[in-house]
Amino acid sequence: MPAINVSINIQGIVQGVGFRPTVFIYAHNHHLTGWVMNSAHGVDIELHGNEADIQAFIDELRSAPPKQAKIDLFTVTKAPTFIYPDFSIRDSVDNPEDFLPVSPDLAICPDCRAELFSTSDRRFRYPFINCTNCGPRFSIVQAVPYDRPSTTMKDFNLCPDCAAEYHDPRDRRFHAQPVACPVCGPGVWLQADGEKRAEGEEAIQLARALIMQGKILALKGLGGFHLACDAHNEQAVALLRQRKQRSGKPFALMAANLETIRRYAVLSHAGEELLTGPQAPIALLDVAPGGKELAKITAPGQKRLGFMIPYTPLHLLITEPAGNFTDVLVMTSANLSEEPIAYRNEQALINLKDLADAFLMHNRPINMRVDDSVVSMVQDEPYLVRRARGYAPMPVSLPVTAEPLLAAGTHLKNTFCLARDRYAFVSHYIGDLENQETLTSYKEAVAHYEKLFRIHPRALACDMHPDYLATHYASQRAEQEGLPLIKVQHHHAHIAACLAENQWNSKEKVIGLAFDGTGYGTDGTIWGGEVLIAGYADFERRFHLAPVPLPGGDLAVRKPARMALSYLLAAGLDPEDQALAPVKYLSKLEADAVKNQVQMGFNAPKTSSLGRLFDAVASLAGLVQEITYEAEGAIVLEAMADPDETGDYPLPIAGNIVNPIPLIKAVVQDVHNQVSTGVISARFHNGILRAALEASLQIRSETGINQVALSGGVWQNLFLANKMIPWLRQKRFMVFYHHQLPPNDGCVSLGQAMVALSQGLSAKE
Ligand code: ZN
Ligand code: ZN
Ligand code: FE
Repeated sequence: MPAINVSINIQGIVQGVGFRPTVFIYAHNHHLTGWVMNSAHGVDIELHGNEADIQAFIDELRSAPPKQAKIDLFTVTKAPTFIYPDFSIRDSVDNPEDFLPVSPDLAICPDCRAELFSTSDRRFRYPFINCTNCGPRFSIVQAVPYDRPSTTMKDFNLCPDCAAEYHDPRDRRFHAQPVACPVCGPGVWLQADGEKRAEGEEAIQLARALIMQGKILALKGLGGFHLACDAHNEQAVALLRQRKQRSGKPFALMAANLETIRRYAVLSHAGEELLTGPQAPIALLDVAPGGKELAKITAPGQKRLGFMIPYTPLHLLITEPAGNFTDVLVMTSANLSEEPIAYRNEQALINLKDLADAFLMHNRPINMRVDDSVVSMVQDEPYLVRRARGYAPMPVSLPVTAEPLLAAGTHLKNTFCLARDRYAFVSHYIGDLENQETLTSYKEAVAHYEKLFRIHPRALACDMHPDYLATHYASQRAEQEGLPLIKVQHHHAHIAACLAENQWNSKEKVIGLAFDGTGYGTDGTIWGGEVLIAGYADFERRFHLAPVPLPGGDLAVRKPARMALSYLLAAGLDPEDQALAPVKYLSKLEADAVKNQVQMGFNAPKTSSLGRLFDAVASLAGLVQEITYEAEGAIVLEAMADPDETGDYPLPIAGNIVNPIPLIKAVVQDVHNQVSTGVISARFHNGILRAALEASLQIRSETGINQVALSGGVWQNLFLANKMIPWLRQKRFMVFYHHQLPPNDGCVSLGQAMVALSQGLSAKE
């Protein structure tokens, strides 16, 4: 059989994941010569050998690519015959217009974990062990191309042993940019009261001892600092709450392994895969019935616990089960209430000095702060709540080709989105753009992504809300750079994001169930209970919840009792009914103020928000009168819902209005009849589901549209999502929901980008 030549181009996540060494080994195994290199769009390979061997090579590479690679395109073409002496890895060439996706940070792999605890390994108990299959990526990259001099590892010179591994294509550490060892790499130390107390292993053991003494430890991890304490120590957890100024929001937890988590929470097979996968997020798991208990204030009123397992070698050493060390740690981002997570040593020592008793620091700089991701499960699949470490900056593939564009995102749970070619780089979770620190971190991140992915926006997209900082930022840039600015309605963006993620590439409209907290409407009121008929380019508001006054604006968001009173007044019910919790909660003065605001329409904007209806019902049911974290009313109400209750409250639809008044009346009646909160909550949820189904059926009968998209913060409610999806499918609807981005405002930037692109500015089919 004559020898031939072929060229192969592979695109996707193919750099920094051990692609070239894998190709090198496979080529040798199949007796092929030629070369491989990182290039223009991915990896280029040239092969010389006989046809059967080449085919076997291709089959092997396609079926067993490197673990962390993600292949989007695999193109094979015949090439002119040329004989190579051997197979080599060629140096990459950098073309300033080219770009490549950068790998997210990867949790420690099983091989490195085994070496970490192997006494004979030269990296035994070394807190920064990593290889091509694991370790920091996005958080340490400063520039492209992804190479050690472009990372925060550039100041650590490889020792001869590490250099040998780094240059050997057969080694697991070939071109692993963060490769390091105790001889040449970063180290840890413990610091307290401005003094270095210990280094290395001693520092780790001292940190563990402090935790067991009830101290709060600031621990520098992969994407930023955590505050850690013993989750069984009631006093330590209370102190942490007090110092962080965080009263009710549940804390994330870390346990050494899955066996430990099973003592506290229900762990499905899918949950195990999620926790042990390369993303290793915080998984929201149902509390195990009759399981072991933690300090009561760790996650008050919650039905779910947020657990993660150690995803770096340092975390493995800190949580190691030994002696009487606690089996669960609180592991929460190190920041004051809603400020961004601390990530630089000097800054952490200043900002966290009143929060932490001691600091376990290291000298591997973090270039980009990244929070832990938070993931729940819908239909037994991962469903994101917060998308950050392990996921960002993995791009979303677009159903269209985009010209360079920046979508600024929204106000709460902000992400931004940079699009080019067929990729949308949706940023990691930035946070609520409510303070200067978060805004600064937003601007830095935008600049970093633009540099990393070589995107020079030629258009900008933003929310319609005139006061959002992200909107200001976008308008300013549009003006300064002379670029078009497209303003996109919040709920239209939600639905467009859901469609894009699901690769919808049709001009056909869908039914959009945009169930949300707050979004600025085209009529200047606050929307959030919207049934849209929407495509990428435009939308129609087919049904919406009847608007009610939001007495006191933001104050009514913080105090569900105010919202309940607003609904009582709208329903013509007795606002002084002492059997009702919100009436008892509000002082006479505040109740009078609310009544005034509602009657005069003063400082009481109208809202059709479904989130606010949740608040009102949570308040009427006696659960939450004043929130201590965002969406507390809805979260606590969901946690209470009795899964066996099949009854529902009426939400009749007339014209284009969904009328919540009969529902409010029914809730009040059940409260009078002392029906349990579990039943009230379930009937409320079921009422919403039934109305949503009815609205969808009505639109289908009017228009023939058969696709339904679910987006908006309310869809984080798993009681709703896990029922709505099968209900719609039973009625033969095609259902789109979020898989790659969260249904909350974290997805809005992608939707803004899609709407802007499709409005003809720069969209190409
Ligand atoms: Zn590894
Ligand atoms: Zn070394
Ligand atoms: Fe929203």
